[in-house]
Amino acid sequence: MSITTAVDAFDIRLTDTPTPDADREAALAAPKFGTAFSDHMARVSWTASDGWHDRRVEKYGPLQLDPATAVLHYAQEIFEGLKAYRHADGSVWTFRPEANAERFQRSAHRLALPPLSTEDFVGSIEALVRTDVDWIPGGEETSLYLRPFMYASEAFLGVRPSLEVEYLVIASPVGPYFAGGVKPVSIWVAQDYHRAGAGGTGAAKCGGNYAASLLPQQEAYEKGCEQVCFLDATTNTALDELGGMNVFVVRADGTVETPELTGSILEGVTRSSILQLLADRGHAVVEKRILLDELLAGLADGSVSEVFACGTAAVITPIGRLAGEGFDVTIGGGVAGEVTTAIRDQLTDIQYGRAADRYGWLHRLV
Ligand SMILES: *Cc1c(COP(=O)(O)O)cnc(C)c1O
Repeated sequence: MSITTAVDAFDIRLTDTPTPDADREAALAAPKFGTAFSDHMARVSWTASDGWHDRRVEKYGPLQLDPATAVLHYAQEIFEGLKAYRHADGSVWTFRPEANAERFQRSAHRLALPPLSTEDFVGSIEALVRTDVDWIPGGEETSLYLRPFMYASEAFLGVRPSLEVEYLVIASPVGPYFAGGVKPVSIWVAQDYHRAGAGGTGAAKCGGNYAASLLPQQEAYEKGCEQVCFLDATTNTALDELGGMNVFVVRADGTVETPELTGSILEGVTRSSILQLLADRGHAVVEKRILLDELLAGLADGSVSEVFACGTAAVITPIGRLAGEGFDVTIGGGVAGEVTTAIRDQLTDIQYGRAADRYGWLHRLV
């Protein structure tokens, strides 16, 4: 998809201490999620008086923060997550970046941060990926994970929106989320904690939502599960989503359901892409309230055949076990279901250039 970007406005200031080739190649050969970072970062500064200014790509490195910096006290911060994929012909692409840019604008609005234009958002990604093109791994299901984020940088303890803000993009080479293939995860349904409530920040991609999900996530581990699923805060009966992934239910008759957007659910780009792909594959797709009790009944009587979670980092992950207070059910006998596998393959084939991009979802970076 061709969109105008501000890439040419970025001043490229190359590091004078690039990572030695051998070290970079070692990092690319066995990338572990979010542990190694490329040599540069993109950056734009904002002040209430001058707006967004000083677009640049500079050496990756620590930020110096005054102890009074607002984000450290009031968590006025938002982020995004997307990937750069290397195709077989060497070209490099990203997936629906304008959707992430628009969500970043909505998140900024909710957190009283200044909106960053789509031109600057996509331009910053182009500028960084072109500078650090040697950091994009080429192995199967590898990519360069891109993390744009924005935080309140003013040193001031008063409670009001910051008058100074920094926007950065950092990049990390990543491998397949699950070493050894896609394996179903176990989910603990939290009944004492919620991640978001009506009128809260659930629909915004802000760090605070994740901070609030860590204790319930820890509880899930203690119960022997890998991930936590949250219910709606109003009735405690309907599925919202996982800590960082949306959830889908596949019925035996081929209908696919996902929780409707209520304001407390994060609107995933993967979620919306899957909805489109499933509809075009001929599935009935329904966005609705999904009651936990109905899901458990459907799993018991066989009318629900597959459950999966989705998000940029892990793409699509089958859910193989659903447990909570008073229930513990296995789904699919330890292997990914048919619909889950088919939709995962179709989506990754588009992202990696193995299938035609009929939807104009890919944006060329290099
Ligand atoms: C980022 C995120 C998702 C997934 O969104 P994608 O755009 O598909 O990566 C789902 N839920 C939460 C809470 C998230 O933060």
